[in-house]
Amino acid sequence: MHVRMLKGQEKEVFDLAIIGGLVLTIAPYHEFIESGLILIKEGTIMDITKRELIPNTSVARDTITAEGCLIMPGLINTHTHAPMSLFRGMADDLPLMKWLKDYIFPAEAKLTEDMVYWGTLLSCGEMILSGTTTFCDGYFLEDQVAKAVKDSGMRAVLAQGVIDLPAPGIDDPKKNIKHLEKFIQTWKDTSALITPAAFCHSPYTCSENTLRDAKDITRRYNVPFLIHLSETEEEVHNLWKRYKKRATHYLRDLNVLDRDTLAVHCIWLDEDELDVLKEYEVKVSHNPESNMKLGCGVAPVPEMLQRGIIVGLGSDGAASNNNLDMFQEMDTAAKLHKVTKMDPTVLDAKSVVEMATIKGAMALNLEGIIGSLEKGKRADLIIIDMQKPHLTPCYNPYSHIVYAAKCSDVRHVIIDGKVVMKDRKLLTIDIEQVMGKVRAMRYMD
Ligand SMILES: [Zn+2]
Repeated sequence: MHVRMLKGQEKEVFDLAIIGGLVLTIAPYHEFIESGLILIKEGTIMDITKRELIPNTSVARDTITAEGCLIMPGLINTHTHAPMSLFRGMADDLPLMKWLKDYIFPAEAKLTEDMVYWGTLLSCGEMILSGTTTFCDGYFLEDQVAKAVKDSGMRAVLAQGVIDLPAPGIDDPKKNIKHLEKFIQTWKDTSALITPAAFCHSPYTCSENTLRDAKDITRRYNVPFLIHLSETEEEVHNLWKRYKKRATHYLRDLNVLDRDTLAVHCIWLDEDELDVLKEYEVKVSHNPESNMKLGCGVAPVPEMLQRGIIVGLGSDGAASNNNLDMFQEMDTAAKLHKVTKMDPTVLDAKSVVEMATIKGAMALNLEGIIGSLEKGKRADLIIIDMQKPHLTPCYNPYSHIVYAAKCSDVRHVIIDGKVVMKDRKLLTIDIEQVMGKVRAMRYMD
């Protein structure tokens, strides 16, 4: 398994070696490796084992010493709207519909390509600094999101927004499907780190034809389809009045549910809808902080997990959170379900860490390449400094990741084998410049 340096044999040169530290692999076997060693070449994990098994580490061009650290897969944020960091704190403490109609939609009407690019780069900086290596985005002017993501070095599923209302970059909603197809054509196979996708805003803002047509396009190009599903009780009532169907049944009858569909929020679902999600292998993105902040309700996550539905964690946009910190999201998810069920056993720390890593990868159909640290997978990993008072002592790393660690404990971040943050310094983004650009923007006048 491991690389042996036999006499006379030519040394294999790796791009990066991570030496020492406790490795939390999230793999079904070898869950923990104490004093580990990870060898990376051309973005792939070539070997992951105990350090002592490979004495000669001089074969790597670059090394990171991880003594006293925890090494784990990079966190996966399964739902956000990256450019919405521009609207962080602009309007808070309002109901969802009022927040959307009176503040967010008017602000979005003023968005330019430039704003979307810099807003996304700001989000990418925040995400890397907080240990996220992959995210799933749904927004408008998604070409600009993709350009910023490419510049940041992050991995992402990027979905062009589809809505039957005028939207940034699409004055005439009749053009939304054409726009979607062009986006997918542009970004499919353009970058190994970017998967294009479709994001239908919701069953209440997209017509039946729009939903069907968008899903058809994603099937034709074999890319994911995202949709906000049953986020508020009000939308569920309105849909019922119109179609005499609950939202999941409505989408099933339109033939838009399958294993490439990622349903976001999924709060107001009945038992049969949960069974339908399981039957059609629909994935779920759970966004507890946004749901709490907008007062939308609590998604039945324990019931989903009992059925074997794949549930990833998401932050939602920074305007309804108000940050993209997955450590906070994990902490909130674990506690929200405990207090809702009045049962501290209902969602344990390990399950939550899985939701932020391997289950997130499964939600995005990326589990073949990311979500755990295993030989042959892409090297997306974070190194957390455990030498901190609030992380001492350490009995159970899962517990610390969820309940005690802060995003600022992440010291180094590696995406696709490339070091994008070293000693908390971003190497792909000039964050001072990005913050300066965003501060100078005007979209509230
Ligand atoms: Zn959302």
